[in-house]
Amino acid sequence: MTIDYTQLYIDGGWADPSSSATIAVHSATTEELIGSVPEAAERDVDDAVAAARRAFDAPDGWGTWEPARRQQALERFAQALEKRGEETARRVTLQNGMPIWLAQQFEAGIPALLLRFYAGMMAEAPQEETRPGVVAGGSRVIKEPLGVVAAIVPWNVPQAITFLKLAPALAAGNTVVLKPAPETVLDAQLMAEAAIEAELPPGVLNVVPAGREVGAYLVEHPGVDKVSFTGSTAAGRSIAETCGRLLRPVTLELGGKSAAIVLDDANLASTIESFFATTLLNNGQICWLSTRVLAPRSRYQEVVDTISGLAGALTIGDPLESTTQIGPLVSSRQRDRVESYIAKGSAEGARLTVGGGRPDRDKGWFVQPTVFADVDNNHTIAQEEIFGPVLSVIPYGDEDEAVALANASDFGLGGSVWTADPERGEKVARRVRTGTIGINSYVNEPNAPFGGVKASGIGREMGPEALASYQQVKTVYLQPPAPSA
Ligand code: NAD
Repeated sequence: MTIDYTQLYIDGGWADPSSSATIAVHSATTEELIGSVPEAAERDVDDAVAAARRAFDAPDGWGTWEPARRQQALERFAQALEKRGEETARRVTLQNGMPIWLAQQFEAGIPALLLRFYAGMMAEAPQEETRPGVVAGGSRVIKEPLGVVAAIVPWNVPQAITFLKLAPALAAGNTVVLKPAPETVLDAQLMAEAAIEAELPPGVLNVVPAGREVGAYLVEHPGVDKVSFTGSTAAGRSIAETCGRLLRPVTLELGGKSAAIVLDDANLASTIESFFATTLLNNGQICWLSTRVLAPRSRYQEVVDTISGLAGALTIGDPLESTTQIGPLVSSRQRDRVESYIAKGSAEGARLTVGGGRPDRDKGWFVQPTVFADVDNNHTIAQEEIFGPVLSVIPYGDEDEAVALANASDFGLGGSVWTADPERGEKVARRVRTGTIGINSYVNEPNAPFGGVKASGIGREMGPEALASYQQVKTVYLQPPAPSA
């Protein structure tokens, strides 16, 4: 039985779409049709933005509510999402191949956690302060929401990434038009069901499932006050150009090609699970994965053997099975892309040590976990984001060279340092030009900012920094004291 929707979530309820176009969703594992949703057209985006505007601009609009009142509404939303957690995880796994145990963690759990985290932060943190004057009277400095936020998200971790935007944006008092990626629209519709059950006020959240053209239309829409985008660097550049022209605030979370720096004292075997989670999680389809492994020449072959052993022993299979470590890629297009990089790696002279092909399965867009040794940092596979389970092992001489190689990248999103000495690891970590980096692990922390430098993006999500990115500060100069007689 397929999961089919005929309406769009706009203005607080289900609305008929303006056209009969639909988005068909296929299982990454069986390639079968699993569902469909209406494809939003420009007119639907107009309706969604208008609804979000009304919800924001009304005299008693969402942004005027006391934070504690918004917190109650967002708590209802969190509970409605939690009720649907298992089904959310299942839909994501069906659509994009994410192993179910990971979907249960990321996609079922994180949305509610983030809603509570940001709603609580808003309710607790003072939203204005009075400052004494230096040359005139005092000032009141007030944090206000920005208005209507356009949130555009990719397919790889669709719900968690959606709530990295929705939770701080809604908690701060903004209203949102969300555009999910066409590959993962079934989880977005389920989220809309939760929003309806939670009785979010009409227009506070609206969902327009569509592709990139309609996404570009939303970015330019005159009713939008801020754009928050996660996706490829190429799309991010185009969105940044539009926002630059419009002087529209924008947050960009883009691609990566992060380095795992294995120091000469590292014991990789003892941290192998953590190494897997840092380099190959979600079938290699996460932006921050450390896919360039920098290994000391003194222990090079040992590191190559350990990583090749890890990749070769992973359980590939149906991602709905709890024992599966590597599922399929999201689409045949994505598999073609990954396979073309594997071919390029061999053509440019890197040495394939494991994988490189497809596992023995009739159906599904699978690629074997693949490791290349003897990779030069200038090779295409070391410079471009592959977004699949493909690791490059690059040799280095001393620590300075390791840092230089880590920094010789257009990107700067994640990274990791592997060492028996965490203090030494932190010294190295501080020298890497990147937005985030972990020591003997890499786990995003909601209370700490996440984001990139260079071609990995502009701005930060998570932490109080994300909340601030959905707020404007306004100054009211208070009446100066009357001159004394
Ligand atoms: P993509 O850029 O093709 O699409 C992402 C989203 O943007 C989709 O919803 C798409 O429809 C929309 N879109 C594409 N072009 C657009 C445009 N010009 N205007 C408006 N909307 C547009 O990326 P993808 O293939 O879906 O996702 C994979 C990419 O996302 C990878 O490069 C990955 O690194 C990146 N990513 C980054 C982060 C991060 O936090 N830095 C997280 C996850 C994924």
